[in-house]
Amino acid sequence: MIVMYHYVRPVAASAWPRLKGLELDDFRFQLDRLGQSHRWVSMEQVLEAANGGAPLPEAAALLTFDDGYRDHAVHALPELLRHGIKAAFYPPVRAATERELLDVNKLHFILASLEDPGSLVDRVEDEASSLDRSIDLPTLRALHWKRNRFDDIRISYLKKLLQSALPQAVRTCILDGLFEHFVSHDQAQFADDLYMGLGELERLVDMGMHVGGHGVTHRRLSLLDRAEQEAEVAGCLPLLNRLGVSTNRFSFCYPYGDCDGTTLEVVAQAGFRGGVSTRATCAVIGEDNPLCLPRLDTNDILRS
Ligand SMILES: [Zn+2]
Repeated sequence: MIVMYHYVRPVAASAWPRLKGLELDDFRFQLDRLGQSHRWVSMEQVLEAANGGAPLPEAAALLTFDDGYRDHAVHALPELLRHGIKAAFYPPVRAATERELLDVNKLHFILASLEDPGSLVDRVEDEASSLDRSIDLPTLRALHWKRNRFDDIRISYLKKLLQSALPQAVRTCILDGLFEHFVSHDQAQFADDLYMGLGELERLVDMGMHVGGHGVTHRRLSLLDRAEQEAEVAGCLPLLNRLGVSTNRFSFCYPYGDCDGTTLEVVAQAGFRGGVSTRATCAVIGEDNPLCLPRLDTNDILRS
């Protein structure tokens, strides 16, 4: 079983109590429970086993942390060390090295700043059509007005519009305006607070943790052509090399879990030995493609 985490923090006691994140106490509870039922394994062990090497123990569990949040160094790492867990971390390159705030994170904090974020639907649709007259809102509604696994229908639709359905430039323009209005005037400072920097990533590696690739700009790879996908994938290598990750330990985490046949070729050519998606099921080593191992979300197993 591979488990995926994003924000892990004392959410209710934080400056952003509405942020969709995992409460630190629930994280601790989950580690205690999983530790009783499972055997912790590292990404290195999974890469070995998935590529024909030493098999994993029964009921193996690997923990993965996406997006390089400072939460992971501040809140998750002490708990992992206490349990002797070697987890895997996936920072997008731009966030980690250039302190650039990702669109996906702008959206999370915009939603967390409002009591009723669904009320943004009309505003976002109006802004989208005034920015680009060719946008066909009735078709977008017909395609995307449906709930996802974790959100109500309006939030699910907003996320779809602002994460993938609208053209990139339109999305970013709307997100920048909403972020400035509702969250902060200083994206750079916000990013600096939100993401781990190189020093923290180096410390993770020193502590025996795995760091892998998660794209340069955290875009959906299947929407890109091959050259763009190659740039997003190979662009992770300088950061991994700088952190001292050896080439036979490269793993890749697809942003949004999104990949296509080209992505898998590109990732393999760049030297990655394994990859993780967001297909929500238990990984079966030996059956699943090592480059596309499924992961359960922490919310899937929170109270199980
Ligand atoms: Zn991500």
